[in-house]
Amino acid sequence: MINGIGLLQNGYAKNATATAILHRRIPNEPPKCVASSGNYLGLVDGRQILDATGGAAVAAIGHGNARVKAAMMRQMDEVSYVHTSFFTTTASEELGRMLIDSTKGQMARAVIYSSGSEAMEASMKLARQYFLELSQPDRTKFIARKESYHGTTIGALSMGGHLARRKFFEPLLLGNITHVSACNEYRGPMEGESVREYVARLARELDDEFERLGPETVCAFVAEPVSGAALGCVPAVPGYFQAMKAVCDKHGALLIVDEVMCGMGRTGTMHAWEQEGIVPDIQTIGKGLGGGYQPVAGILIGHKVITAITNGTGAFAHGQTYQGHPVACAAAVEVLRIIQEHSLVDNVRRMGALLGRMLKQRLSTHDHVGDIRGKGLFWGIEFVLDKATKQPFPPAMHIANGITDKGLAAPYNISLYYGTGTVDGRCGDHILLAPPYNVTETDVKIIVNLTVRVIEDFFADDIQIDF
Ligand code: PMP
Repeated sequence: MINGIGLLQNGYAKNATATAILHRRIPNEPPKCVASSGNYLGLVDGRQILDATGGAAVAAIGHGNARVKAAMMRQMDEVSYVHTSFFTTTASEELGRMLIDSTKGQMARAVIYSSGSEAMEASMKLARQYFLELSQPDRTKFIARKESYHGTTIGALSMGGHLARRKFFEPLLLGNITHVSACNEYRGPMEGESVREYVARLARELDDEFERLGPETVCAFVAEPVSGAALGCVPAVPGYFQAMKAVCDKHGALLIVDEVMCGMGRTGTMHAWEQEGIVPDIQTIGKGLGGGYQPVAGILIGHKVITAITNGTGAFAHGQTYQGHPVACAAAVEVLRIIQEHSLVDNVRRMGALLGRMLKQRLSTHDHVGDIRGKGLFWGIEFVLDKATKQPFPPAMHIANGITDKGLAAPYNISLYYGTGTVDGRCGDHILLAPPYNVTETDVKIIVNLTVRVIEDFFADDIQIDF
């Protein structure tokens, strides 16, 4: 029996207990996927699984797109690989141009890598080099946020404040990164605090952290516009990014936004920062960039940073073998063309509004649904043991895993992305919905109906909660 007593010591007022009856984290192999087309994944046992999350918000245009496949084949016939130190290609040039155009010229250059973690590592090194170019060698530190995830390599994991993901590797992590509070409208504001006051408090906290570290020692503040994997699709509150950017500007530090998960159209604008009234100095992108057709990610670099590098050393001292890979670039170009030609970002806004509205209508009153939040086609549902106190479920119950596993089983046959709490008690289990940008109204209704059934049946049948 697992009970909530331990959590009470973390400040939760109510003594609720929950008993896991049926669910345990399934140690089996995941099911084998043998086919993928549109919104569906085909399993070896013949079942068709509705992919409501595109993996981890990756499949931006669904699966098996013939145009992307053809573009990749053409690229392989033309140039299968060259090293970017020696050659450029039509595909990499075109992708760079399209990405910069997508920022309306507000960012200056793009560099293409193979994963979001690499993009985060590159951002950190670029920020460091920027300050060396400006003869500010003492700037070696970064400020990131608690309950954040920025990738899995040592630098990127150090940037993240997700305690559960860090815990095994803590002795290996970088010591020059500290973490301030996340922006979380559900759990962050104090009793009676307005959004404006909340933002002001978070900006003060960041400012204090700069002062504590010595402002002239900090390279950058790093944050996701919509917190994806760690908090579960939590958008920043209005005014947050403007306030944080003002603090960075005051101290001469850079603002790095991590849009690996929430970028490339996912939240209803091509870049999530467009909705925040700021332009970042460096931005990471990934996932939706290649729509899953190739492992491709990258960074977009602002004018200020490019000018400093150009006037200084002349090159970013960071190169990788598969950087700007032609086939990856060709896939990303075709995904972007499809998004543009079919105005899919407009569809993200329309269908996202419907998805959010329907989820709230159907699930807000559920006893264990604490919060439903999101932007565009990027929605999170957070589960709580006790709605009044927002007490999360004990992590050992693996509530989100349980819901995901149930969804994947017949008769539901839907793939949902799960996130566990960060084990600091400041956020709970959640699932994410991130369907392709080209979903129809009918698709959204099917996704909501299945998701609601999975959640209702899970709490009715699979666990028992005693108050
Ligand atoms: N940043 C964010 C915000 C992410 O969500 C992720 C992946 N979930 C990463 C970085 C790391 O990307 P990757 O897994 O491609 O290395």
